[in-house]
Amino acid sequence: MERHTGDEMLHMDLMGGQARVMLCETTQMTQTARDIHEATPVCTAAVGRLMTATAMLGVMMKGDRESVTVTIKGGGPMGTLVAVADHGDVRVTADQMQLDVPTREDGKLDVGGVIGHNGRMSVVKDLGLKEPYIGQCELVSGELGIDFANYFTVSEQQPSLVSLGVLVKGDQVIKAGGLLIQPLPGCSEETLEALELRSPMFAEISRELACAPKEELAEDWFRGLELRLLDRTPLRYHCPCSRERMERALLAIGRQDLQSIIDDGQGAELGCHFCRKQYKFTTSELQALLASAQV
Ligand SMILES: [Zn+2]
Repeated sequence: MERHTGDEMLHMDLMGGQARVMLCETTQMTQTARDIHEATPVCTAAVGRLMTATAMLGVMMKGDRESVTVTIKGGGPMGTLVAVADHGDVRVTADQMQLDVPTREDGKLDVGGVIGHNGRMSVVKDLGLKEPYIGQCELVSGELGIDFANYFTVSEQQPSLVSLGVLVKGDQVIKAGGLLIQPLPGCSEETLEALELRSPMFAEISRELACAPKEELAEDWFRGLELRLLDRTPLRYHCPCSRERMERALLAIGRQDLQSIIDDGQGAELGCHFCRKQYKFTTSELQALLASAQV
Protein backbone atom coordinates (compact mmCIF):
# COMPACT_ATOMS: atom_id res chain seq x y z
CA MET A 1 0.00 0.00 0.00
CA GLU A 2 1.41 3.38 -0.97
CA ARG A 3 2.27 5.54 2.04
CA HIS A 4 0.89 9.05 2.37
CA THR A 5 1.71 11.34 5.25
CA GLY A 6 -0.76 13.78 6.76
CA ASP A 7 -4.39 13.43 7.78
CA GLU A 8 -6.20 10.91 5.69
CA MET A 9 -8.90 8.22 5.84
CA LEU A 10 -8.16 4.80 4.42
CA HIS A 11 -11.30 2.96 3.39
CA MET A 12 -10.63 -0.77 3.15
CA ASP A 13 -12.33 -4.12 3.25
CA LEU A 14 -11.40 -7.63 4.35
CA MET A 15 -12.02 -11.09 2.89
CA GLY A 16 -13.67 -9.85 -0.28
CA GLY A 17 -16.17 -7.61 1.49
CA GLN A 18 -16.91 -9.56 4.68
CA ALA A 19 -15.91 -6.56 6.78
CA ARG A 20 -15.43 -2.85 6.28
CA VAL A 21 -12.38 -1.13 7.78
CA MET A 22 -11.74 2.58 8.13
CA LEU A 23 -8.39 3.69 9.49
CA CYS A 24 -7.41 7.33 9.73
CA GLU A 25 -4.84 9.72 11.01
CA THR A 26 -6.21 13.02 12.36
CA THR A 27 -3.13 14.55 13.99
CA GLN A 28 -3.10 17.82 12.08
CA MET A 29 -6.82 18.54 12.40
CA THR A 30 -6.65 17.83 16.14
CA GLN A 31 -3.70 20.21 16.42
CA THR A 32 -5.67 22.87 14.53
CA ALA A 33 -8.64 22.39 16.87
CA ARG A 34 -6.31 22.72 19.87
CA ASP A 35 -4.79 25.91 18.50
CA ILE A 36 -8.09 27.55 17.53
CA HIS A 37 -9.77 26.78 20.84
CA GLU A 38 -6.64 26.93 23.03
CA ALA A 39 -7.76 23.65 24.50
CA THR A 40 -6.08 21.93 27.43
CA PRO A 41 -4.68 18.41 26.81
CA VAL A 42 -7.72 16.56 28.14
CA CYS A 43 -10.12 18.74 26.12
CA THR A 44 -7.88 18.35 23.05
CA ALA A 45 -8.17 14.58 23.45
CA ALA A 46 -11.95 14.85 23.75
CA VAL A 47 -12.47 17.00 20.64
CA GLY A 48 -9.84 15.03 18.71
CA ARG A 49 -11.63 11.75 19.37
CA LEU A 50 -14.96 13.32 18.47
CA MET A 51 -13.64 14.76 15.20
CA THR A 52 -12.04 11.43 14.28
CA ALA A 53 -15.30 9.51 14.66
CA THR A 54 -17.27 12.27 12.93
CA ALA A 55 -14.81 12.13 10.01
CA MET A 56 -15.61 8.42 9.66
CA LEU A 57 -19.32 9.20 9.43
CA GLY A 58 -18.61 12.08 7.03
CA VAL A 59 -16.51 9.99 4.67
CA MET A 60 -19.27 7.33 4.55
CA MET A 61 -21.74 9.87 3.15
CA LYS A 62 -22.03 9.61 -0.57
CA GLY A 63 -23.67 12.75 -2.00
CA ASP A 64 -21.81 15.99 -2.62
CA ARG A 65 -24.00 18.14 -0.43
CA GLU A 66 -24.39 15.68 2.42
CA SER A 67 -22.98 16.41 5.84
CA VAL A 68 -23.15 14.96 9.33
CA THR A 69 -23.39 16.68 12.72
CA VAL A 70 -22.63 14.85 15.96
CA THR A 71 -23.73 16.42 19.24
CA ILE A 72 -22.56 15.06 22.59
CA LYS A 73 -24.28 16.11 25.81
CA GLY A 74 -22.74 14.08 28.57
CA GLY A 75 -23.43 16.29 31.58
CA GLY A 76 -19.70 16.82 32.19
CA PRO A 77 -17.85 20.15 32.60
CA MET A 78 -17.14 20.49 28.84
CA GLY A 79 -20.86 21.04 28.29
CA THR A 80 -22.11 20.35 24.79
CA LEU A 81 -19.67 19.22 22.09
CA VAL A 82 -20.54 19.56 18.41
CA ALA A 83 -18.60 18.26 15.44
CA VAL A 84 -19.57 18.62 11.78
CA ALA A 85 -18.10 16.77 8.83
CA ASP A 86 -18.60 17.61 5.17
CA HIS A 87 -16.93 14.47 3.87
CA GLY A 88 -13.28 15.01 4.88
CA ASP A 89 -13.74 18.59 6.10
CA VAL A 90 -14.29 18.56 9.84
CA ARG A 91 -14.85 21.24 12.47
CA VAL A 92 -15.59 21.14 16.18
CA THR A 93 -16.69 23.28 19.10
CA ALA A 94 -17.53 22.81 22.79
CA ASP A 95 -18.85 25.03 25.59
CA GLN A 96 -15.68 24.74 27.65
CA MET A 97 -12.20 23.68 26.54
CA GLN A 98 -9.94 25.15 29.21
CA LEU A 99 -10.44 22.39 31.76
CA ASP A 100 -7.66 20.78 33.70
CA VAL A 101 -8.58 17.62 35.55
CA PRO A 102 -6.32 15.01 37.18
CA THR A 103 -5.26 12.14 34.94
CA ARG A 104 -6.85 8.77 35.62
CA GLU A 105 -5.23 6.10 37.78
CA ASP A 106 -3.94 4.35 34.66
CA GLY A 107 -2.17 7.57 33.62
CA LYS A 108 -4.60 8.38 30.80
CA LEU A 109 -6.36 11.66 30.21
CA ASP A 110 -9.80 11.57 31.78
CA VAL A 111 -11.87 12.22 28.66
CA GLY A 112 -14.93 10.51 30.16
CA GLY A 113 -14.60 12.79 33.17
CA VAL A 114 -14.77 16.04 31.19
CA ILE A 115 -17.44 14.84 28.74
CA GLY A 116 -19.54 13.02 31.35
CA HIS A 117 -21.57 9.89 30.76
CA ASN A 118 -25.06 10.86 31.86
CA GLY A 119 -26.55 12.00 28.65
CA ARG A 120 -27.05 11.41 25.00
CA MET A 121 -25.35 11.65 21.69
CA SER A 122 -27.15 12.49 18.50
CA VAL A 123 -26.12 12.07 14.89
CA VAL A 124 -27.89 14.20 12.30
CA LYS A 125 -27.20 13.33 8.69
CA ASP A 126 -28.21 16.01 6.24
CA LEU A 127 -28.78 14.05 3.07
CA GLY A 128 -29.84 17.07 1.04
CA LEU A 129 -33.47 15.95 1.44
CA LYS A 130 -36.25 17.72 3.31
CA GLU A 131 -35.92 15.60 6.43
CA PRO A 132 -32.51 14.78 7.88
CA TYR A 133 -31.74 11.36 9.31
CA ILE A 134 -31.51 11.58 13.10
CA GLY A 135 -30.02 8.83 15.25
CA GLN A 136 -29.81 9.07 19.02
CA CYS A 137 -28.57 6.94 21.85
CA GLU A 138 -27.50 7.12 25.47
CA LEU A 139 -23.85 7.73 26.25
CA VAL A 140 -22.21 4.68 27.77
CA SER A 141 -18.84 5.94 29.00
CA GLY A 142 -18.09 9.42 27.64
CA GLU A 143 -14.77 8.04 26.38
CA LEU A 144 -16.36 8.17 22.91
CA GLY A 145 -14.85 5.02 21.33
CA ILE A 146 -17.34 2.77 23.14
CA ASP A 147 -20.05 5.38 22.68
CA PHE A 148 -19.68 5.42 18.90
CA ALA A 149 -19.54 1.61 18.79
CA ASN A 150 -22.78 1.61 20.78
CA TYR A 151 -24.32 4.20 18.46
CA PHE A 152 -23.56 2.13 15.36
CA THR A 153 -24.90 -1.02 16.99
CA VAL A 154 -28.06 0.46 18.52
CA SER A 155 -29.05 3.23 16.11
CA GLU A 156 -27.76 1.91 12.79
CA GLN A 157 -28.09 -1.82 13.64
CA GLN A 158 -24.48 -2.23 12.55
CA PRO A 159 -22.21 -4.00 15.06
CA SER A 160 -18.92 -2.11 15.12
CA LEU A 161 -15.56 -1.94 16.78
CA VAL A 162 -14.36 1.63 17.25
CA SER A 163 -10.98 2.72 18.54
CA LEU A 164 -10.20 6.44 18.92
CA GLY A 165 -7.00 7.92 20.28
CA VAL A 166 -5.23 11.23 20.81
CA LEU A 167 -1.69 11.39 22.14
CA VAL A 168 -1.03 14.91 23.37
CA LYS A 169 1.85 16.49 25.26
CA GLY A 170 1.28 20.02 26.51
CA ASP A 171 0.04 22.01 23.52
CA GLN A 172 1.48 19.54 21.00
CA VAL A 173 -0.62 16.79 19.45
CA ILE A 174 1.81 13.91 18.87
CA LYS A 175 -0.61 11.59 17.06
CA ALA A 176 -4.35 11.22 16.66
CA GLY A 177 -6.38 8.72 14.74
CA GLY A 178 -9.04 6.09 14.74
CA LEU A 179 -10.12 2.70 13.51
CA LEU A 180 -13.58 1.39 12.66
CA ILE A 181 -14.30 -2.25 11.85
CA GLN A 182 -17.77 -3.35 10.77
CA PRO A 183 -18.57 -6.95 9.89
CA LEU A 184 -20.94 -6.86 6.93
CA PRO A 185 -23.75 -9.29 6.01
CA GLY A 186 -22.21 -12.63 5.08
CA CYS A 187 -19.23 -12.24 7.39
CA SER A 188 -18.07 -15.71 8.42
CA GLU A 189 -17.51 -16.91 11.99
CA GLU A 190 -13.84 -17.42 11.16
CA THR A 191 -13.40 -13.78 10.11
CA LEU A 192 -15.24 -12.57 13.22
CA GLU A 193 -13.03 -14.70 15.43
CA ALA A 194 -9.87 -13.51 13.70
CA LEU A 195 -10.91 -9.89 14.26
CA GLU A 196 -11.81 -10.52 17.87
CA LEU A 197 -8.46 -12.16 18.52
CA ARG A 198 -6.65 -9.20 17.03
CA SER A 199 -8.73 -6.50 18.74
CA PRO A 200 -6.18 -5.88 21.56
CA MET A 201 -3.76 -4.70 18.86
CA PHE A 202 -6.06 -1.79 17.97
CA ALA A 203 -6.70 -0.55 21.50
CA GLU A 204 -3.98 2.10 21.68
CA ILE A 205 -4.36 3.60 18.26
CA SER A 206 -2.54 6.91 18.80
CA ARG A 207 0.48 5.13 20.29
CA GLU A 208 0.51 2.68 17.39
CA LEU A 209 0.44 5.57 14.92
CA ALA A 210 3.39 7.13 16.73
CA CYS A 211 5.39 3.98 15.95
CA ALA A 212 4.39 3.24 12.36
CA PRO A 213 2.49 4.81 9.45
CA LYS A 214 -1.17 3.82 9.14
CA GLU A 215 -0.61 1.83 5.95
CA GLU A 216 1.98 -0.32 7.69
CA LEU A 217 -0.30 -0.82 10.70
CA ALA A 218 -3.17 -1.92 8.45
CA GLU A 219 -0.99 -4.44 6.61
CA ASP A 220 0.31 -5.75 9.91
CA TRP A 221 -3.03 -5.96 11.76
CA PHE A 222 -4.99 -7.55 8.93
CA ARG A 223 -2.34 -9.88 7.54
CA GLY A 224 -3.95 -12.97 6.03
CA LEU A 225 -7.40 -11.36 5.84
CA GLU A 226 -7.26 -10.23 2.20
CA LEU A 227 -6.95 -6.55 3.04
CA ARG A 228 -8.01 -4.38 0.11
CA LEU A 229 -7.69 -0.60 -0.15
CA LEU A 230 -10.89 0.85 -1.67
CA ASP A 231 -10.41 4.56 -1.31
CA ARG A 232 -8.44 7.25 0.48
CA THR A 233 -9.85 10.64 1.50
CA PRO A 234 -7.77 13.58 2.70
CA LEU A 235 -8.98 15.00 6.01
CA ARG A 236 -8.59 18.54 7.32
CA TYR A 237 -9.98 21.02 9.80
CA HIS A 238 -12.07 23.38 7.74
CA CYS A 239 -14.80 25.86 8.60
CA PRO A 240 -16.98 27.09 5.74
CA CYS A 241 -18.26 30.19 7.56
CA SER A 242 -18.43 33.47 5.65
CA ARG A 243 -19.74 37.00 5.92
CA GLU A 244 -22.77 35.97 3.84
CA ARG A 245 -23.63 33.21 6.33
CA MET A 246 -23.34 35.69 9.19
CA GLU A 247 -25.64 38.09 7.35
CA ARG A 248 -28.20 35.33 7.05
CA ALA A 249 -27.82 34.62 10.78
CA LEU A 250 -28.43 38.30 11.54
CA LEU A 251 -31.55 38.34 9.40
CA ALA A 252 -32.73 35.16 11.09
CA ILE A 253 -33.00 36.90 14.47
CA GLY A 254 -35.96 38.83 13.07
CA ARG A 255 -36.60 42.33 11.80
CA GLN A 256 -37.53 43.83 15.18
CA ASP A 257 -34.42 42.58 16.96
CA LEU A 258 -32.19 43.68 14.11
CA GLN A 259 -33.81 47.12 14.20
CA SER A 260 -33.11 47.41 17.93
CA ILE A 261 -29.42 46.58 17.33
CA ILE A 262 -29.38 49.34 14.70
CA ASP A 263 -31.05 51.75 17.15
CA ASP A 264 -28.33 50.97 19.71
CA GLY A 265 -25.82 52.42 17.28
CA GLN A 266 -23.01 50.09 18.41
CA GLY A 267 -23.00 47.84 15.37
CA ALA A 268 -22.75 44.09 15.82
CA GLU A 269 -20.00 41.57 16.19
CA LEU A 270 -20.59 37.91 15.52
CA GLY A 271 -18.13 35.16 16.26
CA CYS A 272 -18.00 31.73 14.65
CA HIS A 273 -17.97 28.97 17.25
CA PHE A 274 -15.97 26.62 15.05
CA CYS A 275 -13.07 28.80 13.88
CA ARG A 276 -13.47 31.80 16.22
CA LYS A 277 -13.36 34.26 13.34
CA GLN A 278 -15.04 37.57 14.23
CA TYR A 279 -17.36 39.35 11.83
CA LYS A 280 -18.03 43.04 12.47
CA PHE A 281 -21.00 44.94 11.11
CA THR A 282 -21.31 48.72 11.42
CA THR A 283 -24.68 50.32 12.00
CA SER A 284 -24.86 51.48 8.38
CA GLU A 285 -24.01 47.98 7.15
CA LEU A 286 -26.81 46.62 9.32
CA GLN A 287 -29.21 49.22 7.93
CA ALA A 288 -28.27 48.22 4.38
CA LEU A 289 -28.73 44.54 5.29
CA LEU A 290 -32.19 45.20 6.73
CA ALA A 291 -33.14 47.31 3.70
CA SER A 292 -32.00 44.59 1.27
CA ALA A 293 -34.11 42.04 3.13
CA GLN A 294 -37.19 44.26 2.82
CA VAL A 295 -37.06 44.39 -0.96
ZN1 LIG B 1 -16.00 29.60 11.10
